[in-house]
Amino acid sequence: ASGVPADTLLAHVRDVPDFPEPGIVFKDITGLLVDGEAFAEAVRRLADIVPEGVELIAGMEARGFIVGAALAAHLGIGFVPIRKAGKLPPPTHRASYALEYGEAVLEVREGTVSPGARVLLVDDILATGGTAAAAADLVEQVGAEVVGVTFLLELLGLGGRDRLGGRVVSAVLSVE
Ligand code: AMP
Repeated sequence: ASGVPADTLLAHVRDVPDFPEPGIVFKDITGLLVDGEAFAEAVRRLADIVPEGVELIAGMEARGFIVGAALAAHLGIGFVPIRKAGKLPPPTHRASYALEYGEAVLEVREGTVSPGARVLLVDDILATGGTAAAAADLVEQVGAEVVGVTFLLELLGLGGRDRLGGRVVSAVLSVE
């Protein structure tokens, strides 16, 4: 590993209070992405915590695309986008999940995730775990196996890990 400590990576993540709504502290990772050394180090650290036997990475819209695709290219494996409803051309598989108010739908293109494939889910941030839980349902609906769920940053105390049940959950960075 190179000499960039985890707290230095974390220093590239900016807290934005009351965004996108009052009471939420938004974790802005754009400062980490724009710094080539920090971004490369983040990808190496993600690669270090990838579970054994991963064949395919599925990234959740939108920042899971950035982090997940970079990790997939680093590992030399494929990448599949899991998108919000209505963005992917048909045919798609769909999974709906509850939000604080109402529900949302995630989709994956049919034929991109093979039955039996060993899939790693990747997103930038684990908060409540609702998005990752729905993405895992979607991948399993196709008959593939979710071998783990990996994040750049875990927000502790929001119950994200609990929401993901017995799954293998890992994160490069964590904050309260
Ligand atoms: P959740 O489903 O609650 O785990 O939320 C995860 C999704 O929402 C991820 O795709 C994150 O990018 C985004 N997210 C949740 N909370 C935050 C936050 N405090 N700052 C930035 N992004 C967040």
